[in-house]
Amino acid sequence: VLVLGGGFAGLEACRALRGAPCEILLVDRQNHHLFQPLLYQVATAGLSGSDIAQPLRSMLAGQSNVQVHRATAVSIDLASRTVAFRDEPDPIEYDHLVLGLGLVTNWFGHASWSRYAIGLKTLHDAYRIRDRMLDAAEAAENLVDDPDERRRLLTTVVVGSGPTGVEMAGAMAELGRREIETEYRIVRAHQLRIVLVSADDRPLSSFHPELSRRTLDDLRSLGVDVRLSSPVRDLREGEVVLDGETIAAHTIVWAAGVRAPSIVHGLGVPLDRVGRILVEPDCSLPGHPNVFAVGDLAAMRVDPGDPGGPGDPASRFVPGVAQGAMQSGAHVGRTIRDRLRGGAVSVRPFRYQDRGSMATIGRAKAVAEIGGRRFGGLVAWLLWLFIHLAFLIDLRSKASVLLKWIAAYVFYRPSNRIVAAAPTDDETADGGHLRSTPSRGRVV
Ligand SMILES: Cc1cc2nc3c(=O)[nH]c(=O)nc-3n(C[C@H](O)[C@H](O)[C@H](O)COP(=O)(O)OP(=O)(O)OC[C@H]3O[C@@H](n4cnc5c(N)ncnc54)[C@H](O)[C@@H]3O)c2cc1C
Repeated sequence: VLVLGGGFAGLEACRALRGAPCEILLVDRQNHHLFQPLLYQVATAGLSGSDIAQPLRSMLAGQSNVQVHRATAVSIDLASRTVAFRDEPDPIEYDHLVLGLGLVTNWFGHASWSRYAIGLKTLHDAYRIRDRMLDAAEAAENLVDDPDERRRLLTTVVVGSGPTGVEMAGAMAELGRREIETEYRIVRAHQLRIVLVSADDRPLSSFHPELSRRTLDDLRSLGVDVRLSSPVRDLREGEVVLDGETIAAHTIVWAAGVRAPSIVHGLGVPLDRVGRILVEPDCSLPGHPNVFAVGDLAAMRVDPGDPGGPGDPASRFVPGVAQGAMQSGAHVGRTIRDRLRGGAVSVRPFRYQDRGSMATIGRAKAVAEIGGRRFGGLVAWLLWLFIHLAFLIDLRSKASVLLKWIAAYVFYRPSNRIVAAAPTDDETADGGHLRSTPSRGRVV
């Protein structure tokens, strides 16, 4: 069984195959599993990478029928039942294939925008955002006589008002201010400017409008400048172009959308608008009963009997959330296990159990919809904290995150503010493709 991707879906598929009579090869381009729901806290210096990521090898060390391999899949040949990997001469053959490759940042056809903004999908993205903001604060502190440049350095634009954009903007507006007031001498907290830009007319548009209203009030109370119904027309170096306005910003975070990785285009199976694979009710690919797509990469109907297509407003699809990924991964793992044991070979449809959705905006500010009930404020926030802790990878991460949350939320001390970039006089330093922070007009 070849499992591509060690995210929530791929990992659960492997776990469900524990004890099954097969060899499992789990391949991921990273050496770790990442708890993406807390990635924004790494980007805003609240947590460190090791709090939310763990090596796949150690997570699966106790399961003797799994081997972990680090490689990047580049093409899949369904006819010859092989997958090819970057820099590896020989493709790998499979009997069963599970595709759990997740989604990537969607730049909506503007490939150049990735030079001016940073998406938020990987630990690398989170560290780039964090370092860029911390570097900008240092540079702003060193400026004496250029208020426009200081304003640009201290401005961050977050594009997209889904859960990721809202959580990023709220945390950025909240977490940095106390340190700036106490530790900086020139820069003042009120100079930090966070702008949330969205084409939608309300934040968290997938939630009930009442929770969107509450989110908007909470964001504004934290000082976030929210621009709704404002599609981004262009991104340039340090600039976000909207209709009739250009915002100068040193840090631009792109949380406006996701799409399937291009590897799916060679499969020759039906895809939806963003490239997700339109799977059969058991999550297999049409015409390929031994190949499955799970998690974010799969467009799975909430009601497996629903014949409607992706454009049909009556058709509902499983949302791209961790629960959908874990449940579909486990379902496919069990399906393969039963087949290998010679048991049920009939198609067993995947049924999604909706456990609700939530988003946090800041300290004691969150919204949640669970079982048709809506919550906001402290209750929703405590629920959010509890659920995220409960689902975190292991006891060590739970303890570390809990301590850091106490530091951040009780004592207002974000913990992870060390920038480990090579010094600028190091000839081996790689400046990356975003412009480096200017440093002029030093205060002596
Ligand atoms: C910033 C952010 C915040 C989120 N917040 C929440 C939240 O609060 N609650 C919630 O329920 N969900 C949240 N989500 C969504 C949730 O994280 C996803 O639904 C879930 O991670 C999907 O799991 P997956 O296994 O399908 O994909 P992923 O977790 O994305 O895993 C895909 C894996 O495939 C690997 N991979 C990709 N391409 C290749 C390749 N070519 N070769 C080899 N390996 C490859 C990747 O390295 C990765 O390990 C959030 C997502 C993000 C990005």
